[in-house]
Amino acid sequence: MQTDTPPIEAGRATSAPGTVWFVGAGPGDPELITVKGRALIERAGAILFAGSLVSEAATRWAPAGCVIADSKDMTLEQMSSWLIEQAGRCATVVRLQTGDPCLYGALIELVQPLDAAGVAIEVVPGVSSAMASAAAAVESLTLPEVTQTVIFTRIEGRTPMPEGESLEVLAAHHSTLCIFLSITLMGRVTAALTAAGWSPDAPMVVVHKASWPGEEKIIRGTVATIQGLCRDAKIVSQSMIIASPTLGARQWTTLTKSRLYDASFTHKFRRASVNANTDTPPDLPETT
Ligand code: SAH
Repeated sequence: MQTDTPPIEAGRATSAPGTVWFVGAGPGDPELITVKGRALIERAGAILFAGSLVSEAATRWAPAGCVIADSKDMTLEQMSSWLIEQAGRCATVVRLQTGDPCLYGALIELVQPLDAAGVAIEVVPGVSSAMASAAAAVESLTLPEVTQTVIFTRIEGRTPMPEGESLEVLAAHHSTLCIFLSITLMGRVTAALTAAGWSPDAPMVVVHKASWPGEEKIIRGTVATIQGLCRDAKIVSQSMIIASPTLGARQWTTLTKSRLYDASFTHKFRRASVNANTDTPPDLPETT
């Protein structure tokens, strides 16, 4: 809900000398952090990381003398107090979060107390587990004439879903669904897909610990089978559920090709080599 608090202006005077950087650590593989994120770790005076998922990245590149703490047993207040305190004594404080900090990561709850304390903050994006899961399974989340839309969502657990965002309603689009935080509620996921008209044969993939060296598991199934397959594989945590009409396209024999690479398609960076299509605007932006 919006408040009357005025927005923070860029460049406003801050009371602490340091900046708190919210850095996406990536999905698990320490090499999937961004170059910028790693550079910040290398010069950090203090790092607060979110559990075992990202501890490796923190400890691998942190400089000697860096204060490193795990937030797994801290409350939000303790975390913000810790970050404010560290920003008072060092120039670069890093809050490492799994995947991308802007997805399911309590970013705003942590930023607000820092804003109130006058501590400068920045956010560095990361590779979300949704992207790492698609990569692990060699799946495209969008395909021409199949779906051009990806929905990031979760099923209702302790966090209630806002009105109009039940999985059953979202699934009615028959676009790609990347479902976070829901592996223990798989029965409800498949029931919602079924209620939205997905066939029992519709393909699904679950990726457990995407990108974790030696620990990643990819389970392929259908709306009818995926729950049992995950149960058999004892997958109960850290998993991305993907339901999409694009799944398995690697094996398809008929595929509508993206027009971007079509020889008859002219765009900003390439002239058509054959039969230029005059219906197409000549200067299409970053389409694929
Ligand atoms: N900000 C994170 C999401 C945090 S919520 C991101 O962008 O990825 C935690 C949920 O993310 C987990 O319940 C799971 O659904 C998913 N997740 C995180 N890491 C994962 C991984 N390596 N493989 C598969 N799913 C993962």
